[in-house]
Amino acid sequence: MPPPALNCPNCATQRLEAVLVRYRHRLGGHALIVEDVPCLRCPECGEEYLDIATLKLIESAHTAFRDRDRNRDTTQTRRARFADLGLP
Ligand SMILES: [Zn+2]
Repeated sequence: MPPPALNCPNCATQRLEAVLVRYRHRLGGHALIVEDVPCLRCPECGEEYLDIATLKLIESAHTAFRDRDRNRDTTQTRRARFADLGLP
């Protein structure tokens, strides 16, 4: 794997900052809003970059939520805190 980029691919500034954001993930018509997701944000252009492990965790958690909701309204929105996603 290539090393993580420390500069912004969008505007090339080298001052990305670590922040916690709200991330909205969609899986078909089902949405998961995750609070306090760690990411790197560019203070110049506002782009936010999540790492692959973070995205994979959100995706697998969302798949589990959606499967649980399968017999209910499939267009509903779930909310979760990122810190809770990895817990059984
Ligand atoms: Zn930027």
